[in-house]
Amino acid sequence: MLTKMSLQKAEKSFISKLREIGGQNPYLCMQCGNCSAVCPMVEHMEISPRMVLRLSQLGMEDRLRKFKSFWVCSSCYSCGVQCPRGIKIPSLLEALRLMTLRQNVNYIEPSSEVVSGDDYPQIALVAALRKMSS
Ligand code: SF4
Ligand code: SF4
Repeated sequence: MLTKMSLQKAEKSFISKLREIGGQNPYLCMQCGNCSAVCPMVEHMEISPRMVLRLSQLGMEDRLRKFKSFWVCSSCYSCGVQCPRGIKIPSLLEALRLMTLRQNVNYIEPSSEVVSGDDYPQIALVAALRKMSS
């Protein structure tokens, strides 16, 4: 079981990795919600981009991983353009994807039915596999 001190250490390590890989500072977020208001994918996310930022500030890595929000982000950059604090939110979401993939956790398994079926164009499947599997 994690003690309070080791938990704080894990949270700090998560935030510093996220900052290093994403090149963004989640602490700049003031929770205005502009990012969520303009996000075209928000209705497919369990938690909004604003909430992803909040959980990132709190270092809640396990909680973040329970939601698919950072997987369904289409990297359209609308949120980054509207952020009054200049945070490149898609870069943070990309960092969350990378950090998850580095732990060998895939969102799409290459052997899954989705990939072997012919419901989607091949180019879309290749793009999805590049983004969502390690
Ligand atoms: S980059 Fe991702 S989170 Fe930002 S608006 Fe586009 S889909 Fe939403
Ligand atoms: S737009 Fe920027 S400051 Fe506002 S909630 Fe989103 S990340 Fe935070």
